[in-house]
Amino acid sequence: MSVIALLSDIHANLVALEAVLAEIDRTEGITGIWVMGDTVGYGPEPSAVLESLRAREAVLVAGNHDLAVATGEGLEAFNGVAAQAAIRHRELMSADERDHLAALPTVLETSGVTLVHGSLRDPLWEYVWDADAARASLARAATALSCNGHTHVPAVFRLDAARVSGRPGAGTVALGQGRALVNPGSVGQPRDRDPRASWALFDAGAGTVRFMRTAYDIAATQRAIHARGLPAFLAERLASGS
Ligand code: ZN
Repeated sequence: MSVIALLSDIHANLVALEAVLAEIDRTEGITGIWVMGDTVGYGPEPSAVLESLRAREAVLVAGNHDLAVATGEGLEAFNGVAAQAAIRHRELMSADERDHLAALPTVLETSGVTLVHGSLRDPLWEYVWDADAARASLARAATALSCNGHTHVPAVFRLDAARVSGRPGAGTVALGQGRALVNPGSVGQPRDRDPRASWALFDAGAGTVRFMRTAYDIAATQRAIHARGLPAFLAERLASGS
């Protein structure tokens, strides 16, 4: 059975993505890469990150930042820093790249797993922070496993009978028989006070998810953010992982 690398919220952080891809290449048995949105936005290298994922035939869904960069949709809902970065990315990316982002599905079922950025109740915008939000998403899932992103905090919620239990995403978690929602955290801008890139490995045969952290050269990404003329806050927050 296959092992899939789960990535989300890469946010144009090429150095972080390349560190994760190097670890993927060192790990036996990984057969695919699934990305739960926000491939661009915030970071310095939107085009290179998208090209890297396309070259590896990664499966992508759209995040709110992807559509804001591609079409301007939702830009008015962004805070100032996010909007500045999205507008900058619109300049940096080619029309072909923006068309590729605009064409991404917001919900995708692949190999019996549902991928979405936010939740199945609100695919682009809802943050699943608690059991109630997880329950609402899981109730709409047509598959046992759903994967999301958007919060930048790794987590897993499991529905057993009528009860939803949530826990932080760390270590190896057995998914069990009921429905589950897995968020691998953020590759490019983690917000759980651990600045290392956050991602996960889904082992379909074993029915487990293993949460992963990968160190990368944060200072290199910070320099690139400054060189692009992006807001300094976007560089600063990477050091603290918040
Ligand atoms: Zn994001």
